[in-house]
Amino acid sequence: GTAMRELTRFESPSMSATIENDIGLIVSHADGPHFWDRDGRRYLDLTAGSGVHALGHGDPGLLTAMSEQLHRFAHGGWQLGCPARAELSGRLAELLPWPDPVLLYCTTGSEAVEGALKVARAATGRRQILGFLGGYHGKTGGSLAVTANSSLRRDVTELPIAALSLPYPSARGYLTAEVVSSEAEFAWGKEILEHPDFGLDDVAALVVEPVQGAGGMLAASPGWLSQLREFTRKHGILLVLDEIYTGFGRTGSMFGFQHDGVVPDLVVLGKALGGGLPVSLVAGPRAVMKRIASLRQTSTFSANPVACAAGNYVVRRVVEDDLSRRAAETGDALAAALAALRIPGVEITLCGRGLMLGARVHTTGGADFVKAVVARMRELGVLVLRGGSDGEVVKLTPPLTLPADAATAAIEAFATAIRDELA
Ligand code: PMP
Repeated sequence: GTAMRELTRFESPSMSATIENDIGLIVSHADGPHFWDRDGRRYLDLTAGSGVHALGHGDPGLLTAMSEQLHRFAHGGWQLGCPARAELSGRLAELLPWPDPVLLYCTTGSEAVEGALKVARAATGRRQILGFLGGYHGKTGGSLAVTANSSLRRDVTELPIAALSLPYPSARGYLTAEVVSSEAEFAWGKEILEHPDFGLDDVAALVVEPVQGAGGMLAASPGWLSQLREFTRKHGILLVLDEIYTGFGRTGSMFGFQHDGVVPDLVVLGKALGGGLPVSLVAGPRAVMKRIASLRQTSTFSANPVACAAGNYVVRRVVEDDLSRRAAETGDALAAALAALRIPGVEITLCGRGLMLGARVHTTGGADFVKAVVARMRELGVLVLRGGSDGEVVKLTPPLTLPADAATAAIEAFATAIRDELA
């Protein structure tokens, strides 16, 4: 109607500046790997809502699972159990690496990271946290303290948790499913020992992403997580894997920690779990989660029944359709096609793993050139976002179910956009 047509750059004049629509897209509806804007233009969505839509948009089985639960019982609060929550918990317990997992349901990723920090500090009686440069764990108090991004902290006068950010040894290049060699580095033990404000005997947890998402699709060097496991065990530090982005098949295995065969002390999950609805959780073995009852870490929408029903369906599909393997194959195929592009004046290097794929587009034009490429891709009907510390990384995090013809279209649009911007 008229109101719809009057919308221009912003969804609404009263919208928060933080979430202003600077891409300029207003979505009408979505299906599979695509969405359509209000003018009926189709876009290939290579963001999948920041890695949320493992199954693509509007999966029919997912919609049925959600709507059945919506009609049955939409919300009662965490105090009331429901079959969807019980079933999801059982399903997750089978996938998690401990014999006796305990789950702490939350709503957002940041909230689950807060939960993990609380659990770790309560379990160890220690205060400090170790994180990594380029890491992203959220923007709330504790999660922001572990997020090593100074621009996000500029106007924050005080953070509630002392966290130290260490160098993250990312693998050179994109890791294929076959990687066997180890190029891990472990040079920072000394740095912590010598830090004036940090003592290893006061560190409760080390929080790490197996592939840094917001940091620019950087995969940890193979073998490095095992070294972290040894290091943390030796010093009584809990190893917390933030698998909010990497979890549920995206990197080519159900969880990112499986690439290195480590068993973490806590795992944080979110994003893909709810199939587009907000649900997240902290998982750990009973011995680590033992203070969970006294922490009483709940919130109004924790373990929302509709989100749990969605989670049930998403996790079942990831397992039954072996979407981890599909993510590895599609990621490797995309990476190979990108690596084969030869465009004079442009150096394309790849990073990440599976369908957390980053393509660094290096020219004399710097980040502005990449910004223009991303905008041109949008004109060509393909949505990607930019990232990396220098803004030169094009992030590719499509649905795990990305069809082959859509993958081909993605590569073509990428190459065309670069050529158009060079011209
Ligand atoms: N950890 C990681 C690894 C993430 O990628 C994100 C979200 N990008 C978060 C935590 C925070 O999750 P949320 O945005 O749902 O609070």
